[in-house]
Amino acid sequence: MKNLPLTPKVRDNFPIFKRKINGYPLAFLDNSSTTQKPYSVIDALVNFYSNHNSNVSRGVYKLAEEATEIYESGRDHVARFIGAESSDEVIFTGGTTDSINLVANGWLKNKLEIGSKIIVTEIEHHSNLVPWQISAQSTGAALLYWEKNSEGRLDLEDLQKLINGSVKLIAITAVSNVLGTINLINKIIKIAHLNSIPVLVDAAQALARIPVNVKEWDCDFLAFSGHKVYGPNGIGVLYSKKERIEEMIPIKGGGGMISYVGKQKSDWASAPQKFEAGTPAIAEVYGLTKAIEFIELYGIAQIQKHEEELTSYVLKRFNDFEDLILYGPKDTVDRVGIVSFNLRNLHAHDVAQVLDDYGIAVRAGHHCTNILHQTLGVVASVRISFAIYNHKLEIDRLLEALKKTKELFFTNRKN
Ligand code: PMP
Repeated sequence: MKNLPLTPKVRDNFPIFKRKINGYPLAFLDNSSTTQKPYSVIDALVNFYSNHNSNVSRGVYKLAEEATEIYESGRDHVARFIGAESSDEVIFTGGTTDSINLVANGWLKNKLEIGSKIIVTEIEHHSNLVPWQISAQSTGAALLYWEKNSEGRLDLEDLQKLINGSVKLIAITAVSNVLGTINLINKIIKIAHLNSIPVLVDAAQALARIPVNVKEWDCDFLAFSGHKVYGPNGIGVLYSKKERIEEMIPIKGGGGMISYVGKQKSDWASAPQKFEAGTPAIAEVYGLTKAIEFIELYGIAQIQKHEEELTSYVLKRFNDFEDLILYGPKDTVDRVGIVSFNLRNLHAHDVAQVLDDYGIAVRAGHHCTNILHQTLGVVASVRISFAIYNHKLEIDRLLEALKKTKELFFTNRKN
């Protein structure tokens, strides 16, 4: 399929940009938190409830067949998009956090014993730390931290030093949600597998930004959220390689996940249904399918190039901006459009508040990465993160507003 050219007109697909914030056009620079939704995704939700609403896999009537078709063809589409061998390796969940909790409780926990280790990195989101901590605490296992270097990158030699016979899993993000760094997932998985260690990849920040192919990566598990890839809230995916899915037990029981129910004991349906107890988020799966179609329309290569241009521009402008402390790499090599910083002697929340006055939405805080922020020596930072609809003028507005922020606080302090 030939991709549509990625021009500023892409913005017209997103109704939210009709809004003004504090009298300014919305500059939405918080896309790592969540992305805005194109009409096609919003329309899919309305269309499902208006025309096809029914439960899945339970009825023999027309609407139920349509709902089931929408849900299962969504699974097929996700499988194709991430390069899975089969749709049976795709489990629908509530999001990245939900996916990781399923692996922690349904797969890892049974493998842990006193002295077992789980390798994580210092740059992980809390969602890729806390579920492992919960499993570790109840089994006497522990987390081992792969430390980043001064640039915020992970050196492969350091991983080798952590690996030993007691490591049961490596859980790592493909892209840092603070530093924007892309981890060398291919190489990491090769090292892990040479040592017979399975790998879970957190692709929450990766899927809408870089090519993701579970077969090429050969990852054991991969997790992502719909809402970060232009799709709806409340829907996510756990990809689980066939061998691993067979080792995993359900952590939720209920309708739809059984093949036989006895008074004391039941038999599970086969995967992936056995991990999807209860009525699933059917409309959201439809919305997610449309979101993936939207990405495919332009193609990841164009989106990546667009983000790289914006990142290169903002890094250059930041470099010339006095009193700006940048966290993470200063160039665009192996990096996406997520950039975190602080203004010297100003709290991140104060900066974000003033930016909001100018219609610019950024994130301030620890971005669910306390461990990373401890290594940076700060409790909070300001984060900007790009998506398909951002453009250079918004970066110019950001820089202008940052200048005003400095003037505001430093003038006030002198008075
Ligand atoms: N991992 C990473 C790298 C993230 O950036 C996020 C969300 N900020 C998550 C996990 C959690 O995603 P969700 O809240 O959608 O489950």
